[in-house]
Amino acid sequence: MKKYVLFLFSLLTLLCIVTGCGGEKKADGPKVLKVGTEVTFPPFEFREKGSKEISGFDMDLIRAVGKKLDMQVEILDMDFEALIPAVKRGNLNLVIAGMTITPDRQKIVDMSEPYYESGLSLVVRKENTSLQKPEDLKGRAVAVQLGTTGEEKAKQLAGDKVRSFKTNEEVFQALKEKAVDAIILDKPVAQYYINKHHPDAVIVGDTFAKESYGIVTRRHGELTPKINKALAELKQSGEYDKIYEKWFGKEPAKK
Ligand code: GLN
Repeated sequence: MKKYVLFLFSLLTLLCIVTGCGGEKKADGPKVLKVGTEVTFPPFEFREKGSKEISGFDMDLIRAVGKKLDMQVEILDMDFEALIPAVKRGNLNLVIAGMTITPDRQKIVDMSEPYYESGLSLVVRKENTSLQKPEDLKGRAVAVQLGTTGEEKAKQLAGDKVRSFKTNEEVFQALKEKAVDAIILDKPVAQYYINKHHPDAVIVGDTFAKESYGIVTRRHGELTPKINKALAELKQSGEYDKIYEKWFGKEPAKK
């Protein structure tokens, strides 16, 4: 009998060691949401001068979503073209990076309901008056960010003279140094760069492709409906409008 009790005791001890015995019990508190972004896309995601912190409209929005889901948000800066593969592999839970909802991307990952209406625009040096509309780009050197809808558009319009860069800072630098004649970039971001850093550049013509941004999650994952629900609640409660006003000055048009 004694032997039997002893055996049972050692068995329990062993089990304890193997399972951690509940000693290191994880609190039911917030889990971590690994969020990928790319920080040369102001005012959606960028580092303010001298700050390590990543700020912007997307960042405030995703932190508000994290709160709704009772999850801690951890932001990771990566190359834009690496973001979707990282979600696919499960290295990131989601991506918020001013990423346009496209049918091609939706074949690989889930994208949330739209959270921002945007569009592509054409940027040239102020003194260059020969480029006024997308059709003028044929055969011209155009700078774009790698893996973006702007890159796709540029290839359609300009052909093989398109030059793709990892960051939008390099894209603007190329225009400044006259390595290219034009840039194709999302309008609010182009406007921000021009206002803050590149007064010699200008947006010409109308926004020539309308696009909507969505949050990227793993395809058919359980996170997509949760994100949509959180977004809907933030829009309902007015929190979304507050974040919008903080970065863009006025409320978005209600649809
Ligand atoms: N909206 C563009 C896209 O989805 C660019 C996004 C970005 O550069 N962060 O491709």
